[in-house]
Amino acid sequence: MIYREIGKTGRRASVIGLGCEHIDFKPYEQIKETIDAALSYGVNILDVFMPGKTIREHIAKALGGRRKDVMIQGHIGATDVSQQYDISRDMPNVQKYFEEMLKIFGGYIDFGMMFYIDSEEDYKNIFDTPFVTYVEKLKRDGDILHVGFSSHNPVMALRAIETGVPEMFMFSVNPAFDMLPPDTYVFDHFETDLGVGMFRGVDPDRARLYKICEQKQIGITCMKTLGAGKLLDKQYCPFAEPLTIAQCVEYALSRPAVAAVLPGCKTAAEVDGVMKYLDCDASERDYSHVLSGTRNDFRGNCLYCSHCQPCSAGIDVAAVMRDLDVARLNESDIPASVRAHYRSLSKNGGDCTGCKICESRCPFGVAIAENMKAANVLF
Ligand code: SF4
Ligand code: SF4
Repeated sequence: MIYREIGKTGRRASVIGLGCEHIDFKPYEQIKETIDAALSYGVNILDVFMPGKTIREHIAKALGGRRKDVMIQGHIGATDVSQQYDISRDMPNVQKYFEEMLKIFGGYIDFGMMFYIDSEEDYKNIFDTPFVTYVEKLKRDGDILHVGFSSHNPVMALRAIETGVPEMFMFSVNPAFDMLPPDTYVFDHFETDLGVGMFRGVDPDRARLYKICEQKQIGITCMKTLGAGKLLDKQYCPFAEPLTIAQCVEYALSRPAVAAVLPGCKTAAEVDGVMKYLDCDASERDYSHVLSGTRNDFRGNCLYCSHCQPCSAGIDVAAVMRDLDVARLNESDIPASVRAHYRSLSKNGGDCTGCKICESRCPFGVAIAENMKAANVLF
């Protein structure tokens, strides 16, 4: 397993975690087998948004003494008042469900996630009400170790981050969602075909969100990495050919600020399937040829796919490009963390000889040599 820092929380997540949504309503034995399989690979982060008492207790029971070895994302405002998943902002209900969760998981939750900030209304109902006061108190009291939230909307996610309250968040990340037009709400296409024919390049709001998170050291954990399986299916995939699990995982993990993907496996076999990513080589993870076949407006913009490797001078081009893109958000105030990351690279922009061998391999027409020079100047 590979582990990454979750922003500036000081916590390190396995790059592949487990979203527990799909083990809800399954027999206890299946839940235990799935969790055992995940932990056997070194998974140390679980998302538990489900409000049901039974599933929460089953997960806690399956973990047993291993509770301390994993970090739990627990969602504040996830309830099942009307016997289904409800988003509640009604404080007595919110407290009842979250405090029940605290008890079940040993008195603390690692990441207290403000549930579902997708609209202006969601934002107001959290940040302009006692909801946020409650969340801040949970943190002060040590009931939650870090404040997070979940969202599918880059504009609202950015608003939430700008309050300064959250330290991390869970976001829906996959190439199809990233490439929908900026005014498109991902769930409008989730039940159909993920918007075949609409693709015009990376949504600037989403690209900006990732870069700002990197700049502010706000860690991202990912949901919907496989687009509910649709990206793997020729019938529904919006690209010329379906992606593989490894390509989807690699895409999400190569976005700036992303710490981990949390696929929703419901069996031990599904966990094994996702974990094959860890054994794939770079060519098996490479998603560039799938995306470069789409009608796109992203020529010249780096997608951090590493298809241009190997560099004749040994530079990790995607890593330099990621740092450069974040630095360009505000060249007069480059975050220390980004500078430090750039300096930690064994080779960087200053090592580029300008040979341009890489440029012939880049499917997205990035002027790599020019950018390496720019990185050298900027850093
Ligand atoms: S142009 Fe620079 S980055 Fe590209 S292969 Fe040559 S040395 Fe490497
Ligand atoms: S420069 Fe091109 S090939 Fe290299 S990581 Fe960026 S998009 Fe991919």
